[in-house]
Amino acid sequence: MTPETKWQEIIDFLTGSSGSLDNALAVFGAEDLQDHDPFLVTLGEQIFLCDTCGWQCPLEEQNMSDELHCNDCCDHALDEEE
Ligand SMILES: [Zn+2]
Repeated sequence: MTPETKWQEIIDFLTGSSGSLDNALAVFGAEDLQDHDPFLVTLGEQIFLCDTCGWQCPLEEQNMSDELHCNDCCDHALDEEE
């Protein structure tokens, strides 16, 4: 298994979950990736951590105007303003 294959498994494991990166790395016994920039860049190209719901969301669900939040959370925020 190439490193990239393992990275992808970790990213897939995290995507759509509310687990932390720390936890996922522990599950895969890959704690050393914590400070591994190429991995973190790859991770950042695919998912982001929503500041409101705490879920690891696919990048396509990232709100265009509010990069810290997913579309779902932004929709809810709009609902509450009405
Ligand atoms: Zn969210």
